[in-house]
Amino acid sequence: MNDTSNARQEKWTFSWDLAVPAQDPYLLIDFDNDPCALLFDCGIRVWGRVKTVLKIDHIFISHAHIDHLIGFDHIIRTLLGENKTLHIHGPEGIRHRLESKLAGYDWDRSADQELILDINEYAGCSKIRRIHACNRRFEGVGPAETSLWDGPIVQNHLCRVFAVPVDHGGSACHAYVMKENDHSRIDKEKLDGLNLTPGPWVGDLLSWHDSQALDGRSIRIGEIDYAVVDLARDLIRIQPGRIVVYITDTVFDQRWLDDIIAIAYGADIVVCESTFLEEDRSLAVKYHHLTALQAGLIALALDARQLMLFHISSRYHPKMHRAVQEARTVFPNTDIMHPAPRRKTRPRTGLSVTASE
Ligand SMILES: [Zn+2]
Repeated sequence: MNDTSNARQEKWTFSWDLAVPAQDPYLLIDFDNDPCALLFDCGIRVWGRVKTVLKIDHIFISHAHIDHLIGFDHIIRTLLGENKTLHIHGPEGIRHRLESKLAGYDWDRSADQELILDINEYAGCSKIRRIHACNRRFEGVGPAETSLWDGPIVQNHLCRVFAVPVDHGGSACHAYVMKENDHSRIDKEKLDGLNLTPGPWVGDLLSWHDSQALDGRSIRIGEIDYAVVDLARDLIRIQPGRIVVYITDTVFDQRWLDDIIAIAYGADIVVCESTFLEEDRSLAVKYHHLTALQAGLIALALDARQLMLFHISSRYHPKMHRAVQEARTVFPNTDIMHPAPRRKTRPRTGLSVTASE
């Protein structure tokens, strides 16, 4: 086990929502107390998450197969009135595909709409970026810019996101790793033990700690002055950020798994496609997908905490649990998202319906 085991008892600082196995793939990560959300792939059912869709500022597209991109138009439609920049990331070829979509719109009512699309394509060690403006009928603003790509493709106050090329046959495809930044937190038990009354000074202490500006400062709590260096040492502890791995669609290859392990060993959640069962391994190889057993072995190799399967072939419907059973033979903490229970509707009375032939 890695050294995050203690931190795993901590409260999570983001929530996540994943497509159920029969739905087109998506993973939505929504950070608490922050106007930021991340979307991995654009499965159609993400439409139902309007409040969180409004928070999305980065979309990571694994590849351009229709089931992974079908919800893109609706997300743009939902965000049209927002004054924000939506950053979109994807593998080789994604820029032209998205630009073709945008060119298909006749949108002449957008003069006061400020939505900006920042499209980023990664291929080999290069990145191609182009900006599109909603109030210019989605046309590109200036030429595409090319630069070198190395390290995380996103790095901000919340997290770092890495793209890892995988093997989906003829389709350029990325897995992604999201590494949340570490947090400094007040140890409440120690705070109580020192009999200190919380107040605005707690926020100051954390802020000075995070900006490495502790030296020479003091804080008055009640009638006593405390050196902030001492308070920080006694009260602050670091909660390591969580790691989320998103893998779809790909045939198994130790090379890309090694790349992911190098970034995400000890992952908290591995979200992994398992389109086929082992009994259909030949189909998995033919169509460049994974089996449920391989997904379990991937989570095991990553020393992960939890495996969530998704993107399971409808050929196994309604026995999707077979995939879970198969993965659990090597990685017990495996599950799938379950559909929300249907609301009960009152039986109608006074109506008789005759079924047609
Ligand atoms: Zn695919």
